[in-house]
Amino acid sequence: MLARVRSAAVLGIDAYLVDVETDIANGLPSFTTVGLPQGAVKEGRERVGAALANSDFVFPLKRITVNLAPADVRKDGSAFDLPIALGILAATGQLNGAPTPGADDPSIDRSNDLPNLHDYVIVGELGLEGDVRPVRGALPVALAARDAGLRGVVVPLQNLPEAGVVDGIAVLGADSLTSVRRFFDEGTPLRRATVDARRLFGSRVPRDVDLAEIRGQEHAKRALEIAAAGSHNLLMIGPPGSGKTMLARRLPTILPEMTLDEALETTKIHSVAGLMPPGGSLVTTRPFRAPHHTISDAGLIGGGTYPRPGEVSLAHRGVLFLDELPEFRKNVLEVLRQPLEDGYVTISRAATSLSYPAQFMLGAAMNPCPCGYLGDPGRACTCGGVAVSRYLARLSGPLLDRIDIHIEVPAVPYRELSCDRSGEPSAVVRERVNGARQRQLKRFAGREGLFANAYMTPADLRRFCRVTDQADALLKTAIVRLKLSARAYHRVLKIARTIADLAESAPILPGHVSEAVQYRSLDRPRQ
Ligand SMILES: [Zn+2]
Repeated sequence: MLARVRSAAVLGIDAYLVDVETDIANGLPSFTTVGLPQGAVKEGRERVGAALANSDFVFPLKRITVNLAPADVRKDGSAFDLPIALGILAATGQLNGAPTPGADDPSIDRSNDLPNLHDYVIVGELGLEGDVRPVRGALPVALAARDAGLRGVVVPLQNLPEAGVVDGIAVLGADSLTSVRRFFDEGTPLRRATVDARRLFGSRVPRDVDLAEIRGQEHAKRALEIAAAGSHNLLMIGPPGSGKTMLARRLPTILPEMTLDEALETTKIHSVAGLMPPGGSLVTTRPFRAPHHTISDAGLIGGGTYPRPGEVSLAHRGVLFLDELPEFRKNVLEVLRQPLEDGYVTISRAATSLSYPAQFMLGAAMNPCPCGYLGDPGRACTCGGVAVSRYLARLSGPLLDRIDIHIEVPAVPYRELSCDRSGEPSAVVRERVNGARQRQLKRFAGREGLFANAYMTPADLRRFCRVTDQADALLKTAIVRLKLSARAYHRVLKIARTIADLAESAPILPGHVSEAVQYRSLDRPRQ
């Protein structure tokens, strides 16, 4: 007896349909799964057997063969438990849709509007008692089912809010194997998703932090605004306690609001990573990820035996913040080059290679020296000159090349901390950032793949950065005086372009250049 149940597997951040074929034949009792099953799928046999028995079904003491097709794609995860259990039920006549005796008799109407097993994509892990447990990637699975033109998708109840944002298909949530059997056999309804993605998207949750909470640090806040306006990566150098992390945490709050497409794309990544909070439907605010400096390269860019998105992808469309930048291992920082350049990461495995989106703004912070107090008026630095140079040398050149803005964030004087004037709210700053982004989009219209000043190539700079004669003279003086390299010169020009965009100025004026030069701390000779 052969039964076929539709399911799906996740590859990268997308899902593809998988046919779960279950064959039951006479012979010595056995249970074999074929079609490149990985660890979790194999273990699933034990869960499926227990779940069937504990839900008062008969587990057949026969030769059971389960084939997951297509067979040539690697499959991970426990999401096949539920479809395999349903396949066994269908193949043994314990579920509607199975070729039971008399089924081909036209006088018996078996349809009577009951849902047909073949119209649904089904995913779910089983607990030993027959309960259905959440899986990773329910959102991409629902999208794949809709794109295949199917009638519905059955996901674990806990994944319903997340999968439910997909419209154009019935998204149903199941909490037990028995409830799914009743749905197909008796038409007992399953909980149906009633998420309106657009409405949900319109009612954004308020952010938990705001730029207004930071007093003083006007120079750093201005640098943050410029970074956000031109999508420039940013490095903050300052002693412990100067508020570098506080500042970085507020960077996502001044970036333009996410579009619905961006929100869906970001949610897919978090869904595949299994990181959606319980009841969470849609990631509507830009992510902020701050991995510890002991992170591995696989943790940062993704990978592992069962590939998962790394921090760079979880920060997609948001901010990746690396505190204590020189403490990160060199090989870990090296792997940041691909995502910073291409906006995605590729992970190669023996059988396949897959890619995850990873377009983020990089924020980084470091102490000025190993002890942290170099240049601090209130405390003496105990590091020698050699130790300081060695510390700075730990930053890899290629990574620094991708960071347009570096600023010094000094310890905050008591006077500024204690004054109760509250700063400018994020929403006001975001308005200006939006304006500057609009001007950039207009200027770069027709130039494929270019959406912000930070991504201009040297050719783009020549084309888009018109500098007045005075500003040009000032730029040349700065190059000579600060001994700027050609690369540093390009960075200054890009930042000046963003400052001009914030000031709604078409040409780059001397004031824009002189401000831009201030955001190249590491180019300046050290004291
Ligand atoms: Zn020191």
